[in-house]
Order: sequence, then structure tokens, then C-alpha cells
Amino acid sequence: MSTPAMIESTNPATGAPLEPVPVTTPEELAERVARARRAQPAWAARPLDERAALVRALARRLVERQEEGARIMAAETGRGTTECLMSELVSLMTFADMAVRAGRAALAPDPVKLPRLEYPGKQARIEPVARGVVAIIAPWNYPLGNFMKSLLPALLAGNAVLLKPSEHTPRTGAWLHAQCEAIFPRELVALAQGAGAVGAAVLEADIDAVVFTGSVPTGRRVSARAAERLIPCSVELGGKDAAIVLADCDLERTAAGVAYWGLHNAGQNCAAIERVYVEEAIADDFVARLEQVLRSLRVSTGAGLSELGPLQNPRQLEIVEAHVQEALAQGAVLRCGGARTGHGLGYQPTLLDRCDHRMQVVREETFGPVLAVIRVKNAEEAVRLANDSPYGLNGSVWTRDVKRGEALARQLRVGVALVNNHAITGILPELPWTGVGETGPGVASSRYAYGTFVRRQAVFVDSQADPDPWWFPANEDLEALSQRLVERALGSLPATLKLLPLLKKRVKAIRAVARRG
Ligand code: NAD
Repeated sequence: MSTPAMIESTNPATGAPLEPVPVTTPEELAERVARARRAQPAWAARPLDERAALVRALARRLVERQEEGARIMAAETGRGTTECLMSELVSLMTFADMAVRAGRAALAPDPVKLPRLEYPGKQARIEPVARGVVAIIAPWNYPLGNFMKSLLPALLAGNAVLLKPSEHTPRTGAWLHAQCEAIFPRELVALAQGAGAVGAAVLEADIDAVVFTGSVPTGRRVSARAAERLIPCSVELGGKDAAIVLADCDLERTAAGVAYWGLHNAGQNCAAIERVYVEEAIADDFVARLEQVLRSLRVSTGAGLSELGPLQNPRQLEIVEAHVQEALAQGAVLRCGGARTGHGLGYQPTLLDRCDHRMQVVREETFGPVLAVIRVKNAEEAVRLANDSPYGLNGSVWTRDVKRGEALARQLRVGVALVNNHAITGILPELPWTGVGETGPGVASSRYAYGTFVRRQAVFVDSQADPDPWWFPANEDLEALSQRLVERALGSLPATLKLLPLLKKRVKAIRAVARRG
């Protein structure tokens, strides 16, 4: 027997090798999906309250084991344990409560009102039916959080789930899977480990729907394959978020907020602020303050408290370096950073002033600790330029005039529009997390995400004793009936009064045709 292939990786902060993780073989994948499928009907048959209780129990278990989870995540991502805790674990119980509320709204029975005269004795409703096995393919940047957005609703809806973690963060995925095994019926939640080839194999497996979070090129491939297979697919792809900083903003709060949402997780956030459009009138002052905040950030040395971890993988570091170099070559002004930290894959907090739309750092996803400032004449120019992007995930306007800010934020071509904050709704699962353009049309979180997790079955129940008056045979009474119905539809009261005897005659005629002997 050949030894299984292994995922080998190192801690991005220290370079220390991590425990290898076996890649899931095609046979194992098929077997795990088959077992999940077998476990699913009993799970779907349980009342929503029971499923909700176990979803909450999972959140509690993850929070109770926060030290272990944060340690595993920190080792794979190079982030500090406090940051892992703050961004992926601390709020999980509130997150689960909100996810349950969204689930109740999405899964509630949905009766349809039918007119009594035309449809006597008939009832109709729309019922959610779990898809079956839902695959969740995730990236590495928030190795737990990106799963939670889809895992909880998929389970609440009554599905089995196949988790496919990124090959860069397989240990966090395995940890989450182990916690699911401890809470949910055995084998309801399955795990597939490996890189792109395993991701592609997931698309060929016996799944009923797929949620994909990751890069645009892979998202396109996954969407195309799901379309060929005619299974629902929700994609959450890249971003190039803009913040618009107006002259009347609270400069201190705005500099702190833009720095946080630009450099949180070293900027490896699909909804990181990467472009900052600043009104010329305050640009010198604002950029100086932003520089001050960025210079105050402590970069990770692999130990102790810091605000900024390393990039997660060498490829990501190369992209960041290339974008910064190109921007400088095109005339951007380096205010701080612009080089590696010298610790693992760390890159310094970097502020580039006087950027413009020719530059990669303004057009393409950088996914690093880099803020590109673009100076603008006014708010209108800022909105126009902010919308000049193929992406559209979050967009924010920073101003003391909240009403004007809201009006401007609504003009942004984004899935999430904010005033005086950014990206925060990623942990509020009653709000849709969604985008436009190359960010992808998928919806994660909220009741609106459930299109991926359930199909809607139309249920129609007829307890009417009589046959329907339009059934065969066609006779003169049917002609008369159709005329009276037209007149009634156009508001004629006499026509309505003539309907009842006609209906009775029709019922008699229909029964006569089917009467034996
Ligand atoms: P990626 O596309 O390289 O990988 C994502 C996942 O897809 C991984 O699990 C990978 O193994 C798998 N995969 C690779 N090839 C595949 C294939 N052919 N078929 C199926 N699966 C395949 O992305 P990444 O580098 O891990 O993640 C970074 C990207 O994710 C960034 O662009 C970021 O903006 C985006 N992202 C978006 C959101 C959002 O909500 N919009 C959230 C987090 C990250």
C-alpha cells in the first residue's frame, strides 16, 4: 500500500514546520460523502428546534475550547492568538443566536392565500426541503469564520455538509470537523483535505450544492462546473474595497477605523479597505494621521502581542511586493513601510499616497497590509472612482453628516454599504454578505442565503369533494362559465350571481362522464 500524500506546511511567522496532514484520497472522499448522505434524512427529520440547539452547542463547544482553536489557527496563519480569538471565536455564540434567528425566518412555513370561490377546499404552501449534501470550499484567510457563515445555515436547513478547508489551513479545518463530530450525528459532517485537485474532486462528488469562497479564477471554474452539473452554487470571491473620507469626518476616529479595517489580519480580508479616497481639503492632515497609526503598529516576531501578523503564504507576499513596487515606479509616494519585516513572511504596514487608477495597487486585489490613498476633489469624484472597479464587496463613507454619508454609500456598487465603519457586518449573520461584479453573486449569511441550502417545494392539497368545474367534458355550460368568469373578473355583480348554478351543472356533467354503468 502506498503512503498517503501529505500537506506539508510551516508557521508563516516563525518558519517552524507543522504536523503534516494526510490528503483525502478519491476513495475516502466518495465514502465520506456517501456516509454523510446516509446520515442526512434523519437529521432533516428532526424538528428545527433540535437542530438549532445543536448548532448553538457547536458554537459553545468552539468557544469553550478557544485556547486550543486559537493555538491551531495561530500556528497555521502566523497571526497572534488574541487576534484569532477576537476575529473568529469570541463572538461565535452571538453569531449562532443570530444565525438561528435568520434560519427560523428562512425556514418558516409559507402559506399561499387562494381565492375561495375559484379554489374551494384547496390549500397551498411553500415548504423548504434540505438539498441533501452541501459542500463548503473555503479559503485560508479566516479558516474558521469562512466556514461558520455557511456551515450553520446548511445544518439548520437539515443538510449534511462536506467541509473542504484550504490546503494552507487544513489543521483548523480538521479541528472544526472534530468539534462537529462531537456534537452532530456521526458522519453528518464530512471532511476533505487537499489542494485544488481535491477541490475539483469535490465538484465531481455526489453533492447537491456547493458554497465556494476564494479567488476569482477558481470561483469561475467552480461556478462553471456546478452549472454543468445543474447544482446550486454560491460564490464569494475577491474584493478591492474603497473607503471614502470626507472633509467633515472625525479625523481621529476615521484614521483609526480605516487603519484597522485596512490592516486587520494583515489586510488578508476579502473586505479589507484597500483604496482610500480622501477629499483634497483634508488630505495632508488625514494622511499624516493615518501614517501615525500605521507606524504605531507592532509587527509579529512570532511571540508576544502584536497588531500585525505575517502574510499567510509566500505567493501572497510576492503579490504584495509586486503591487507596492509597481505603484512606486508609477509615482506613488511611500509614507511608511514598503519592505519585509524580516520575521517570517511579514510585510511592514504600508501607506502609499498619491496613487491613481493606472496602478495595480488600486485596480487589483492586493490582500496585504497596504493602504493606497487617492486624493479627490470632492465626494462625487470619490464615488465615481470607487465604482470604477470590477469588484464590489464592502464600501464605506466616513463623515459627520450621517444622512449625506448614507445617501453616498447607497450610490456605491457594493453588496454591503456602510457609513463610518467597514466590514463589521461579516460577523452579523442576519445581514446578507454579498457582492457585485467579480466579487460574485453569492449570498452568505442571512435568510437570503438559503437558496443554496434548501429547495422550495410547492405543496398543494385539495380537500374539495367536487371535481373542478373546468375538467372534461367541454360543453355549453363550460362556455357560459368562461364568459361569466370573464365578466366577473371585469367587475360584474350579476355575472357573479349566475356563477353558482352554472358551477353545480358543471359538477354534475363531469361526474356523469366518469359514472359507471
Ligand atoms: P483559492 O481560490 O486559491 O482557494 C480557495 C479554495 O478553493 C481552497 O480550498 C482551494 O483548495 C480550493 N480550490 C482550488 N482550486 C480548486 C478547483 N479547481 N476546484 C475547486 N476548489 C478549488 O483562494 P484563496 O487564495 O484560498 O483565498 C483568497 C481569496 O478568497 C481572495 O481573493 C479573497 O478575497 C477571497 N475571499 C473572499 C471572501 C468573500 O466573502 N467574498 C471571503 C474570504 C476570502
